Order: sequence, then C-alpha cells, then structure tokens
Amino acid sequence: MRKKTTYPLLLFLVCASYGSYSQSLLQRLQKLQQVYSQHFTLIDTTQIRWQDGSLWQIDDKQVKTHEQQLAKADIQDQLAQNYVKGQPKNPPLANEEAGRIRCEEFFRKMYGNSPQEVEKNLTTIRWLPKSVNIPLKVTTINNVHLRLQAVAAELEALPKHLHHYFNQPAGTYYWRTIAGTNRLSTHSFGIAIDINVKFSDYWHWNKPSNKGIPYKNRIPYEIVAIFEKHGFVWGGKWYHYDTMHFEFRPELL
Ligand SMILES: [Zn+2]
Repeated sequence: MRKKTTYPLLLFLVCASYGSYSQSLLQRLQKLQQVYSQHFTLIDTTQIRWQDGSLWQIDDKQVKTHEQQLAKADIQDQLAQNYVKGQPKNPPLANEEAGRIRCEEFFRKMYGNSPQEVEKNLTTIRWLPKSVNIPLKVTTINNVHLRLQAVAAELEALPKHLHHYFNQPAGTYYWRTIAGTNRLSTHSFGIAIDINVKFSDYWHWNKPSNKGIPYKNRIPYEIVAIFEKHGFVWGGKWYHYDTMHFEFRPELL
C-alpha cells in the first residue's frame, strides 16, 4: 500500500501555495491544535476532525462584517485577529478585539452543549486560599481549574495594595447569554472569571457615541500579566472592553 503524504509535508505544500496570509492562518491553526490536541486533529488548513470523528470546516466561506463575525463566527474568524500579549501602549483600535469573536459551537463541543453537560466537568477551586479563600466553580477540561488555581496563587503573592482588584470575584461559571445578545458568554463553559465589579469598566457603561467608544480601565497590568502567563486573555484589550473579565484562550497567547 502506498504511504500517505505526511502531515508536515502536506501543511508545507498548502502553506507554500497560499502565501503569507495562509502562513499566518496555518500558524494559528497549529497553535489551536497544540493547545487543544486531545479534542481534535488538524487535517489541513480547511478542516479539523474531532475525537468523535466529526469533520468540521474551518472556513464557512462567507464574507462578514465585524458584527456578523461576532454573531456567527467560524474557526477562521475566531483566529483572524492577533491578541498582543504584554502591556498595551494604546487603547484598542476600532473593532480590535482578539478573543471576543468566538465560534460558539467550538466551545460547546469542547466544554459541553448544555448546562448539564458543562456542570458534569466542573470542580471547585479556592480563590486566594491564604486570605479570602472563596470557592469558585470552573471546568476541569483543558485543566482550566489548575491554570486558574495557579493564577490565584500568583495573584495572592502580589503586594497587598493590589488585592482589592481581585479579592471579591464576581463569578466564574454561569450559563447565560451576553447582555443584549443571544450569544453565550464564556462564563457558560466554566472558563471565565470576573475579578471584581467595583473596579471594572465596561464599554456599554461609557456612552458610546458616533465618535466611537471612550476607553477606560483601572486594572493594573501586573494582574493582567499573571493571567496571560497562564493562558487567559483579558477583556481590557477589546474595543468593546470588559476590564474585569478574563477567559481561558491559550490559542491566542
Ligand atoms: Zn466576564
């Protein structure tokens, strides 16, 4: 029997024929594969195969506005923007919000398609165990519970004057839609945390006008850096910002 074309060779050929855009899509897909390797296999730049055998197209071939991407993203849309790790120099530009565009089916497939399915995989971690010691429900899938527990340990070691930003978290798991939309929040999958409502800024509260959305943030970057180190992206880097919000998206980091 003839040996099948090997996977790296195939990827190289696809990449070489599609040029630089595809190269960057390819790199993003490889990262996606690497961080979620127990869930699916990347076949090429057009398809993934899930563990249950189902084959998904990466691109639905539709040209979308930003709003349409938010409403119905495919995997390619989800990976299209670049999340910049590190301290931001400027507020996000219009519609610059890597991580906010999500293919909801992708998260449903990995973490659970209903509250019952998600809840089967939840566990309780202790938030800041040496001080406030608050129980929080998070998923064990992709070891999110271990990652968030590691975040908590590092946050707790920060100087005391920073603790009020995160020692009264407003929640982790909660199956719900994003306010004003019919899209599920990532809190529904047990992969997100809101660190404190009191010091939070949310784009909707700040009177968006025809000049755009005025940016506001009070969360010190030392806190964000710890989350990013452990695979969580920050809602403060989004044009439609949500500065208390962090979610586990290691594919973007
Ligand atoms: Zn949130």
